[in-house]
Amino acid sequence: MQIAIDGPASAGKSTVAKIIAHKLNFTYIDTGAMYRASTWIARENNIDYGDERGILTAIDQEKIEFRFKNGQQKIYAGNKDITQEIRTPDISANVSQVSALAGIREKMVSLQRQMAGEMNVVMDGRDIGTTVLPNAAVKIFLVASVHSRAERRMIDFKERGIKTNQSLEEIEHDISERDYKDSHRKISPLKKAQDAIEIDTTSMSVDQVVNVILSEIKKSQKKL
Ligand code: C5P
Repeated sequence: MQIAIDGPASAGKSTVAKIIAHKLNFTYIDTGAMYRASTWIARENNIDYGDERGILTAIDQEKIEFRFKNGQQKIYAGNKDITQEIRTPDISANVSQVSALAGIREKMVSLQRQMAGEMNVVMDGRDIGTTVLPNAAVKIFLVASVHSRAERRMIDFKERGIKTNQSLEEIEHDISERDYKDSHRKISPLKKAQDAIEIDTTSMSVDQVVNVILSEIKKSQKKL
């Protein structure tokens, strides 16, 4: 079974996707982490963020991989755990350029489909419902105001121990800019799938969002 959760930056996708995957005993796949890892690999190797061939070659050498450690999902490039390093503002500022490259998307989408073919998944991203898993049993599109997303990002930085001098306004600006780039790129832009259920999480608690999604999953199971 495949559950697709899409939406703009910091709309709460990964938080709810993780909980739902845990409750259903499915595997959670954070596709944003794969594009972030590609960006990290480009930076580490001093490759221009627009150099598709160069980045693809480096990815082939370092290999992006999810691994489980003490019940937590970690992302690796080669043998290095980069779970924390891919969350910095610098990676966030450049990931949209890398994720717009056709060859990078092709590679990541193929890896994502392979994983979804092997296990039950809750997958979150920007193009899961539209491109990666067009036949997903349930498609969710999470949205929230830019202000509340910036506040959540600030809390997320604190919780992860990521130091930043960015003000709330600067974070709001970064989020809006990334949304614009992600929804205006040529290939698989951020877009609600026609058959996706839109949920505005601005004034909802995590539990409320999770419950709405779980009830949609139940409904879809009854139809099977
Ligand atoms: O979800 P997260 O904010 O970590 O995603 C980081 C970036 O990866 C997005 O801003 C977008 O550029 C890219 N992305 C994408 N397609 C996906 C998931 C993420 O292009 N399915």
